[in-house]
Amino acid sequence: MADDHPNGFLKYSRNPISYRDPAARITDYDEVYAKEWDETQLRQQATRCMDCGVPTCMGGCPIGNIIPDFNDLVSRGDWHGALARLHATNNFPEFTGYTCPAPCEPACVLAYNNQPVTIKSIERAIVDRGWAEGWINAEPPKVRTGKRVAIVGSGPAGLAAAQQLNRAGHEVTVFERDDEIGGLMVYGIPDFKFGKYQVARRVEQLRQEGISFRTNANIGVNLPLQELREKFDAICLAIGAQLPREVPVPGRQLHGIYWAMDYLTKENRRQSGKKVDGLIDAHGRNVVVLGGGDTGADCVATAHRQGARQVVQISINLRGSDERPVDNPWPEWPLIYRPTYAIEEGGIEDFNVNVTGFLDTNNDGAVDELKYDRVEWTYEKKDGRMVRTAMKVVEEDLAIPVDLVLVAIGFQGPESAPFCSSGIELTSRNTIKTDNNMMTTLPGVFAAGDATRGQSIVVWAIGEGRDVARCIDLYLMGSSELPPSLRTENLPIGKI
Ligand SMILES: Cc1cc2nc3c(=O)[nH]c(=O)nc-3n(C[C@H](O)[C@H](O)[C@H](O)COP(=O)(O)OP(=O)(O)OC[C@H]3O[C@@H](n4cnc5c(N)ncnc54)[C@H](O)[C@@H]3O)c2cc1C
Ligand code: SF4
Repeated sequence: MADDHPNGFLKYSRNPISYRDPAARITDYDEVYAKEWDETQLRQQATRCMDCGVPTCMGGCPIGNIIPDFNDLVSRGDWHGALARLHATNNFPEFTGYTCPAPCEPACVLAYNNQPVTIKSIERAIVDRGWAEGWINAEPPKVRTGKRVAIVGSGPAGLAAAQQLNRAGHEVTVFERDDEIGGLMVYGIPDFKFGKYQVARRVEQLRQEGISFRTNANIGVNLPLQELREKFDAICLAIGAQLPREVPVPGRQLHGIYWAMDYLTKENRRQSGKKVDGLIDAHGRNVVVLGGGDTGADCVATAHRQGARQVVQISINLRGSDERPVDNPWPEWPLIYRPTYAIEEGGIEDFNVNVTGFLDTNNDGAVDELKYDRVEWTYEKKDGRMVRTAMKVVEEDLAIPVDLVLVAIGFQGPESAPFCSSGIELTSRNTIKTDNNMMTTLPGVFAAGDATRGQSIVVWAIGEGRDVARCIDLYLMGSSELPPSLRTENLPIGKI
């Protein structure tokens, strides 16, 4: 089979690891993906990689995974070597192998006029194999530097930074305000999209490497940032961007209207057998999810598992086209409509909907109707994305019956208020301001992940965690052996 590489694409069609049957998976909270995969299938898929001279897939990957190398190793059945190649650029390949939207795939050269290599499935298979074979173990540093680093926030950015800095020999403590380590990977992303066992085994690996964790430590609230500054040589703020965007319309105060994050987090807690104050239950209810993104999709899927009567997901945006627009050529991210895993399970999607208010028709204090206008948008393409420029109302005063509304229309940046008074400046986008060395306006305090980028995706958080670790290592030691990512190669780091 290895002989097919790099011409396998002439022989084999694209065949990724499948998802479970929607009718079956909707009845439980197990991961939506097939549990098992076939080794021969994955090795054949890896032979489809053409080992391009200019591997555009790597340009699409925010952390520069060395994709052609691990495809080659998998095609030859060298799973151990492939795992090493993957870990060289990504601390937690299962976080991405399971949840990533995989921007590398549309950037693959094969996607130009064929189906791209199943890069995400191959990544997942490599790391699954690594765990199954017992190849993923603690790698504590041989030498300690005596420097102490505090990481605030335990999402993928904080954990990647912690592992890199610990491996560089620093003594690392992760502070987390929640009762569990993992950030949105634990509280936010549903259990059926990412099983929490996957976070727990990584946290155990980090513990064994020597990293300390302190939960229920809300920096700026029950533990002052100043105290960390006195006790640690450097600090990294990886606090995410979980401040939800408001829907400022009449009736917003009615019962039955909740933030998506409250809804999803309570269900995560229930699934892990934890105490839940005021579970939000969609059972038997007419649910409307506001927002067409990832968070909205996760609400739709959760509502179906809870036994909702009807689920409608509405978006203010235009529905993507079925065909790729001519001004959106390869290797750009295709601006097309893709049904989400959640919609494949059921529910109604509606686009061009501008919510104008919520009504309580029977005066019991709870929402009964969602009022909206049908709108049309003028769009402009900017930096590879479609940006709305003008809105026109085409139909007024429409209504949907509803008794549970989940607001998932995006995030406004980090919940950073406690830090602002301590001299940490924010950008005009309400994210934490950093310089080219990823340092905030407070010396020795760095920031990474969604806290600086705004709500993004897991792979960027891991990449930023790795980058900030290198910046902190340089700040503490004057030089760093930690590998630069594609991004840090362009940063003028080293001048701190
Ligand atoms: C519902 C949902 C679904 C998503 N699905 C996907 C997906 O399928 N694929 C994908 O790639 N991305 C997805 N994302 C985005 C992805 O989860 C985030 O981009 C990623 O988790 C950001 O990582 P982070 O480490 O920067 O922040 P987070 O994961 O947000 O972690 C920040 C951590 O900081 C803690 N914290 C905050 N303030 C303090 C404080 N003052 N003191 C101590 N701790 C603090 C928080 O409790 C949290 O644990 C999803 C996001 C949401 C909301
Ligand atoms: S662009 Fe596609 S075919 Fe080329 S090296 Fe990357 S994965 Fe392989």
